[in-house]
Amino acid sequence: MAEPRFDWESGIDALAPHLAGTKRIGLQVPEGLRPRAPDIVARLAQLSGAEVLLWGEPTFGACDLADRPLSEVGVDALVHLGHLPMPYHADCYAVPVHFVPVQHTGALVLPRKAIARLHELLPEAIGVVTTAQHLHLLGELQERLATAGFAPEVGEGSPRLAAPGQLLGCSSAVARSLDVPGYLYLGTGVFHPLTVALSTGKPVACLDPHSGAVTEADADLFLRQRYAAIAAGGRAQRWAVLFSTQIGQERLALAERLAGELRDAGYEALLIGSIHQSEGQLAGLGIGAAVITACPRVAIEDGPTWSIPLLTVPELQILLGRRDSEPYPFDEFP
Ligand code: SF4
Repeated sequence: MAEPRFDWESGIDALAPHLAGTKRIGLQVPEGLRPRAPDIVARLAQLSGAEVLLWGEPTFGACDLADRPLSEVGVDALVHLGHLPMPYHADCYAVPVHFVPVQHTGALVLPRKAIARLHELLPEAIGVVTTAQHLHLLGELQERLATAGFAPEVGEGSPRLAAPGQLLGCSSAVARSLDVPGYLYLGTGVFHPLTVALSTGKPVACLDPHSGAVTEADADLFLRQRYAAIAAGGRAQRWAVLFSTQIGQERLALAERLAGELRDAGYEALLIGSIHQSEGQLAGLGIGAAVITACPRVAIEDGPTWSIPLLTVPELQILLGRRDSEPYPFDEFP
């Protein structure tokens, strides 16, 4: 039997007839699939007959589309792999955008000891949530959980979400739409289950679909880091208020409001825009702390590696006394 892997070929093959007549195609691949990008370019070029331009900037989600810059160099269409569309901005693309799903081909691993551990961690009634690449396993997971004595439910989303049960790092709307006492996250990594735990205040267990390992989302260390960053931000004098120009991350009006609130509180504030945000962009500006209105993952995952405090929007509001510090507010897009 073939090794489990991420299947992008089926989606590219199915898309090919829709690209007839195109001469120049833009291509975005998610970071995890980047080593396969040369193969994807070759297959897309062979099937479409078009020149394929690979987008060199990182691609973190459907929030991060390259349709506008690539339309300026004459692409007829953009192929975006690995993320589902964000329905709320689907009418705004500069060129036709084709979203190609990338699914893990491995079977769902749910051994008996995983079920036993889930019974220890969770009540019977649970919400089940996952990310785009494992959505196709949700139906089978629900059936197997029901057989094992759980009452699993899948929630509906928000205008940012394309499918029931789908989580984004900036939206736990599918979890909050359910009235259940606990959640099961199907997937890997700690960021998404943490967002569910923090935005619902309920227990979250995590099931790795490839290994069957069960863990618990534990927010303690995360919260210590975040409250320390908020406290450190109070000692800065000049702030950067970072915003993104990307279609699904742009919150300039919010950034402008925050800059005003910082100034009202006696700080200096510089509004700084870019596609993606990094500490290097602040070099030489005398910045002592920053707040990010773009992807909140940057503050949470990259922030601890920055030499200055990098806060999310609600964290800055805590610092400015504009909202309560408990329960910890996660930065979610509407
Ligand atoms: S968490 Fe960040 S990268 Fe993911 S969809 Fe939200 S804004 Fe985009």
